[in-house]
Amino acid sequence: MDFLDDPAEADFRTNAKAWLAARAPAVELVPGQSLPDDELIARARAWQQAKAAEGYGAILWPADIGGRAGTPIEQVIFDEEENHYRVPTGPFVRMGMHMAIPSILGHGTHEQLQRFAPPTLRGEMFWCQLFSEPGAGSDLAAVRTRAVRHNDGQRDGWLINGQKVWSSWAHHADYGFLLARTDPTLPKHKGLSFFLIDMRSPGIEVRPIRQISGQSDFNETFLTDVFVPDEDRIGAEGDGWACAMTVLTSERIASGTEPERSLGGIRGLIGRAADAGILDSSAAQERLARWYTREQGLKYFHSRMVTKLSKGQVIGAEASLSKLVYATMLQEVSAFDMDLLGYAGCVAEEGDRFRHQVFDNYYWSSAMRIAGGTDEILRNQIAERVLSLPGEPRLDKDVPFDQLS
Ligand SMILES: Cc1cc2nc3c(=O)[nH]c(=O)nc-3n(C[C@H](O)[C@H](O)[C@H](O)COP(=O)(O)OP(=O)(O)OC[C@H]3O[C@@H](n4cnc5c(N)ncnc54)[C@H](O)[C@@H]3O)c2cc1C
Repeated sequence: MDFLDDPAEADFRTNAKAWLAARAPAVELVPGQSLPDDELIARARAWQQAKAAEGYGAILWPADIGGRAGTPIEQVIFDEEENHYRVPTGPFVRMGMHMAIPSILGHGTHEQLQRFAPPTLRGEMFWCQLFSEPGAGSDLAAVRTRAVRHNDGQRDGWLINGQKVWSSWAHHADYGFLLARTDPTLPKHKGLSFFLIDMRSPGIEVRPIRQISGQSDFNETFLTDVFVPDEDRIGAEGDGWACAMTVLTSERIASGTEPERSLGGIRGLIGRAADAGILDSSAAQERLARWYTREQGLKYFHSRMVTKLSKGQVIGAEASLSKLVYATMLQEVSAFDMDLLGYAGCVAEEGDRFRHQVFDNYYWSSAMRIAGGTDEILRNQIAERVLSLPGEPRLDKDVPFDQLS
């Protein structure tokens, strides 16, 4: 991958820059300003729609599902330019664009893609992830939500029963992607299937979890005799684990960069350290150099992953590196920023975008080290599947699920 723009790429960048400068400020989010959910969602839909209309919404997707059929370099260029704005690319957008649709692209049918990709791209369909359960988080293959074959009198399908938890933004989602057990007589990874589920179906109850901040970003989702037509199953019956891995891989790559948190990247941080008069300290230099190197590594690693994806290549456990490095670095860097602020880091006045963003990064980074796979799980995956180190003992791996206590 060549990172210097050739003339066509330079043109693409100039156009993208001009378009962003004209459109992004209208939807930009202000750190520290708490918008009502409806307003946040309206802005996210509007931004996604504007990008889709201009051909920037899905640069790498094929044209027949609304994409630009562009190059990985164009995607990287657009991301770089978009990252200068704090635009609402929020979780519900990412869950559709970076998790639901990649699972359909990888395992679904052409008809399913035609049905779900265009409205997702235009911001008309928001998604939630229905994976985690009270007894299945890190050990995701332990899900107990059951899907049993059923005909509703008109269509073949499935009846779903069970409970999901930590379903981010499920209370605003149009569709969910769900992992359920279809054959408990098989070992735990093998008896799972993957479904798309209309969140307005009878039998779905979404109960928001109230956080200490007073907000509710997460939910418990209860499913009681929810009918899902068979045409909304992705992949073959029993292939749910492979679909879930595609989702998690895409999630880990996507969450290795979060534009709205950048604060000018490590160069910005070096500027703030200079303002605080600590650049002569070798301890500060060492840390800043380490973060700068990691930031550059992440940038090129991300480009490599995007290139692989665009060539239809499968990305394996190496995707875990992206989120692991990013989340840890975000936590260290935001703690450093808090230290630089000193006592001023205790409070932020309304309108102080910078301090609010530092606080937000600091608090969010701890959640990020859990969401989408904890640090420990990601390290296990890298150790076993990238470095080929000996695996953890997994005594339940080959035992039929219904024989596990
Ligand atoms: C901000 C946020 C958003 C989320 N959004 C969603 C969502 O939208 N949809 C969804 O389905 N889920 C969501 N989750 C849930 C998330 O996927 C789980 O929290 C995560 O997978 C960990 O599972 P758990 O919470 O059950 O912890 P556990 O699995 O119980 O883990 C507890 C601790 O034990 C450690 N541990 C567990 N197993 C091992 C092992 N084998 N080796 C070493 N250490 C181990 C873990 O690292 C962790 O520190 C979200 C979580 C967060 C924090």
